[in-house]
Amino acid sequence: MSEMNKSREDGETTIFKKIIDGEIPAEIVYQDDLCLAFHDVSPQAPIHVLLIPKKEIVNVAGFSQDDTHLAGHLMLTVDKVAKLLNIENGYRVVANCGADGGQSVDHLHLHILAGRALAWPPG
Ligand code: 5GP
Repeated sequence: MSEMNKSREDGETTIFKKIIDGEIPAEIVYQDDLCLAFHDVSPQAPIHVLLIPKKEIVNVAGFSQDDTHLAGHLMLTVDKVAKLLNIENGYRVVANCGADGGQSVDHLHLHILAGRALAWPPG
C-alpha cells in the first residue's frame, strides 16, 4: 500500500502523545490501560470527543495483526464513552486517515460526534 500510515513528522512527538503523557492538558472523559478519550479542542458538534489508543499508531492503516485486541477494544469503548456522555439520540464515529481523509494529527483517533443531526455525505 501507500505511505499513508507513515507519520509526516517521523520522530516528532504528536500533540496526542503529549496529552497521553500529561505534558499538555485535556478534558479527559475516560481512560483505561489501552485508551484515552477527551474533548476535541475545536468541537464540530455539541459533543465532540476523541478516542485514542495509548499506543502510538499513526492511523487505521497503521494497525498490525498484533493490534487485533486493541482495535476491538477501541470499538467497544466507543459506546462506553457515548454512555458516559449521556448521548441518547445517536452519534457518528469517524477516523480520518491520511491526506485525502483529512487527517491532521498523526496519532490514530476516533472522532465521536453527537448532539445534533449530522449531515451526510461529509464534504
Ligand atoms: P483530524 O483532523 O486529524 O482527523 O483530527 C484531529 C483533531 O484533533 C481535530 O478535530 C482537532 O481539533 C483536534 N486537536 C488538535 N489539537 C488538539 C489539542 O491540543 N487538544 C485537543 N483536545 N484536541 C486537539
